Formats: sequence, C-alpha cells, structure tokens
Amino acid sequence: MNANDPPRTSRPQSLAAAIHAILNQSAGHADEDADLIKEYFRIEIIGKKMVVQTGQPQWDGPYAAEMKWKKVASLPANSTPEEINQAIRDVMANERYFQVCPECEERMPVGYMMDDYCQACGEKNHGVVF
Ligand SMILES: [Zn+2]
Repeated sequence: MNANDPPRTSRPQSLAAAIHAILNQSAGHADEDADLIKEYFRIEIIGKKMVVQTGQPQWDGPYAAEMKWKKVASLPANSTPEEINQAIRDVMANERYFQVCPECEERMPVGYMMDDYCQACGEKNHGVVF
C-alpha cells in the first residue's frame, strides 16, 4: 500500500455525479441553455460508453407531444465533464436538432419549429390555430 495512492473513488458514482452536474448545473451556460439541456438531453451508460440522447417532440394530435429520444453522440465512459458538455453543445448547435426561432430568438428542438417561426410565435403573432 503506497501512501501516495489516490483515494479510492467509486467510478460509477463519480460518473453519475458528473452527469448530474452537467445536466443540472447552469454554470457557464446561459440559463435558457441550462433549461434546454435539462429538458432535452439525457445520458445513458451503456457498457463502456456514455450515450448522449436528445429529445424531440412527436406530435400525435395538436397538443399531445410525446418525447422521442434519439442517440446523438457516444463517448467513452471515462470522458470528462468538459467533453460531455462539448458533445451536448455540438448537438445544440446542429440545426438538425435545434433551431433558433427568428421571431422570439429562443433556441428549441426542431420539433417545435414551423417553417419560419416556432409554434408559440405562430399562435401568438400569426393566428395559427393548433
Ligand atoms: Zn418563436
């Protein structure tokens, strides 16, 4: 036993803590981004991988949105919080998954976007009835 050995840490626990921190901490993010991450991202540990998923609403009638989770990134399970954070930022910057509404300037999953504006703006500013 070497006195210089690092303290024993439980990897699954620290990993879970890291993921929790990323998904729940707003440090370094604008608040609305933190909300987006909380709501539309989740991370699963599958084998030795961390699988990042993002949710898109599926419309089944006008108001019944069901979230459909899609795998968008796969990282080694020992990835740092910064690496996971970067993967999430990349997905948020990808227009296939997230777009910024030109009217209200909110970023949201593409499932909430109509052609030129989001559903909320469509309802509020354009008389679109759902
Ligand atoms: Zn909008």
